[in-house]
Amino acid sequence: MYVDYHNHTVLCHHAHGTVEQYLERATELGIAEYGFAEHSWWMIRPDTRNLCPSLEETALYLRWMDEARQVYDGTRGRPLLRVGLEADWVPDMLAPAREFVASYPFDYIIGSVHHIQDPATGRWVGAWWFDSRELDAVYEAYFDQVAQLALSGLCDILGHLDVIRRSGRVPERGILPFVERILPALVESGVAVEINASGRDHLNRDFFPAHDVLRLLVEAGVPITFGSDAHAVAHVGRYKEEVVRYLHDCGGREFVRFENRRAIPTALELSGGSLGTSVVHSA
Ligand SMILES: [Zn+2]
Ligand SMILES: [Zn+2]
Repeated sequence: MYVDYHNHTVLCHHAHGTVEQYLERATELGIAEYGFAEHSWWMIRPDTRNLCPSLEETALYLRWMDEARQVYDGTRGRPLLRVGLEADWVPDMLAPAREFVASYPFDYIIGSVHHIQDPATGRWVGAWWFDSRELDAVYEAYFDQVAQLALSGLCDILGHLDVIRRSGRVPERGILPFVERILPALVESGVAVEINASGRDHLNRDFFPAHDVLRLLVEAGVPITFGSDAHAVAHVGRYKEEVVRYLHDCGGREFVRFENRRAIPTALELSGGSLGTSVVHSA
């Protein structure tokens, strides 16, 4: 059984294809549970307003989901549709964000840090577009936001935990010490972490989180789930056999599904045979 929970629609202005096309592809791939997690309307930094739906478009997103749920209900070989949101971490917007996520029966909320304050300039910038050469300081600033997000209670799943590596720049001591520093917060929060397959198609060339980080999380008992971060139909179920094997290699023997914001532990099944073919498209 496989679930793919982190997927976008055209309403975020940087994805392509219809909801039905994504769900039909998920049906072809035999994905048991397929979930959308559209960006949230409060990601309104000046440089990213065009990367998320407006509040009105979000209402349309939820209408599309309500319609699709009637068809994709887990019967007749179709996936069960789960409905989520990628709640972008904007500390100033926490109160309206909380109010919004409580206003609809979401199956899960993915929390993602997409912006940090660049220590070099003080400006809010994309988490992988910073200018600073002080990599240690930038990485600490990023993971501080991740810890705050985890502890805020806003989300059930942390999205692309170490997406800052998308910059292609990692401090000399590696990524692990930065995650070790916030591990107590992650464990205390009880939130799950997704294996986000899109990382393979970015500058870092591997999944989020990195191998040593995933091993650390599994050892600490952090629940794990899966997401393709699809922005196109070709991304649906991205590298799914490899993702399962990756979790298994890192010591994972179960993953979590979500319903009504409750985690459901599920045994990890390794499909025998080859690692499967890869679909490579950049987001
Ligand atoms: Zn996106
Ligand atoms: Zn994201």
